[in-house]
Amino acid sequence: MKIAVVGAGYVGLVTAACLAELGNDVMCIDKDHGRVALLQAGGVPIYEPGLDDWVQRNQHAGRLRFGTAMAPAVTHAELIFIAVGTPPQEDGSADLQHVLAVAQHIGQHLNGFKVVVNKSTVPVGTARQVERVLHEAQQTRGTCVHEVAVVSNPEFLKEGAAIHDFMHPDRIVIGLPEGATGDRARTLLARLYAPFNRHHERTVWMDVASAELTKYASNAMLAMRISFMNEVALLADAVGADIDAVRRGVGADSRIGPSFLYAGTGYGGSCFPKDTRALAHSAAGHGLRMRLVEATEAVNAAQKQVLVQQVCGRFGGDLRGLRFGIWGLAFKPNTNDMREAPSRTVIAELLARGAELQVHDPVATSEARRALSQDLGRPVAEIDSLRFVDEPLDALLAVDALLVLTEWKCFHHPDFAAMAQHMRAPIIFDGRNLYDPAQLQALGFVYQGIGRRNQA
Ligand code: NAD
Repeated sequence: MKIAVVGAGYVGLVTAACLAELGNDVMCIDKDHGRVALLQAGGVPIYEPGLDDWVQRNQHAGRLRFGTAMAPAVTHAELIFIAVGTPPQEDGSADLQHVLAVAQHIGQHLNGFKVVVNKSTVPVGTARQVERVLHEAQQTRGTCVHEVAVVSNPEFLKEGAAIHDFMHPDRIVIGLPEGATGDRARTLLARLYAPFNRHHERTVWMDVASAELTKYASNAMLAMRISFMNEVALLADAVGADIDAVRRGVGADSRIGPSFLYAGTGYGGSCFPKDTRALAHSAAGHGLRMRLVEATEAVNAAQKQVLVQQVCGRFGGDLRGLRFGIWGLAFKPNTNDMREAPSRTVIAELLARGAELQVHDPVATSEARRALSQDLGRPVAEIDSLRFVDEPLDALLAVDALLVLTEWKCFHHPDFAAMAQHMRAPIIFDGRNLYDPAQLQALGFVYQGIGRRNQA
């Protein structure tokens, strides 16, 4: 099938590569000329395991092309996917300017019936706005107005496992407009997604508003599970229980399941924080309060401070003259995404208290430099008390403690003896509960996890 994907970010690029892999003829468009030039030269602008292979293979096979011009993509495609960012605005609402700008450009070049499929996470009512903009753009152009079906097809992939998630979805949610255009869209989308439905029917058909809301409800539910477990972890600490045992016990209930029950330093990333806020904002616009969603957000904001509180609990609030190692900067493993990463809060707070930091991340260093320069108001290269190092052990040189902020695989089984030799004091604040408290204690470490019957 002939496909256009607008936006070559995490969602757009993965969508384009995966649909090309299935044999479709895909044009992927982005307004960022540098990004497109890199892709055309065989590079991939984001870190996502396996994505470079998929992109290159399909480019070589001639099924995947990149460009900046909308006209050829719109003319080429029967299905046009919108996968541009919907960042949060000051008031928490989703900023739709990129989605609507894309709709405007598509409208200027329509040459027949098309299905416009929105993959961006957008509040209920956006498909209607997109429809209106498409219609107006055609009218302004002054040629005949073509019919368009605007469909909602939210994306549920996880960064770090994006290709796997796209190719093996639990479900494919599709919200269709009413009437004949909806029927035409259904026929095309059923054909496009048929390879995913060979064994089980995974497509959940619904109306557009329900599909748009399904995405926010799903993310809010997952974020809520994390915040709930973070609250239980605080109680576990207070009462002498172990959150890891509690997690296993709770998750073994088939009604609950084991996913998204890990206590830690709080969730981050480009989705949960902004989507919970946007959902609460949408509700407020309808005179409703979503108190669970608000509480999820508030608990998470507090949780990002827990590790700092543990450090201050041990060393006092004034951290001048103390040096800490940090392992992990990305908001989660297998990505270089630093959006709303808890490491940003922890680093800013520790620096403000006068600490010296040696930080290491296997992949996210350049993104982290950019994000932290922005947070700290000046280039990190000018901040002597913040050093980026290439090797995990180098981050531990003469430190008073280690803080683990991202559960990268390479941190799971480190050489504890070598670590202790590098450190001024063998103290670990484990923000991801990677280690066994008893084992570390036996090795002579002072260990403090999140809700792990902390002994420090
Ligand atoms: P991203 O920031 O990684 O990529 C967006 C891309 O769109 C950028 O490359 C940007 O240059 C491009 N773009 C913006 N305006 C454009 C325009 N007018 N024309 C052409 N290109 C344009 O964003 P993302 O993380 O891929 O997220 C996209 C959407 O998908 C968001 O709504 C997000 O909430 C949602 N989503 C993201 C994830 C995730 O894990 N990242 C998962 C599910 C859903």
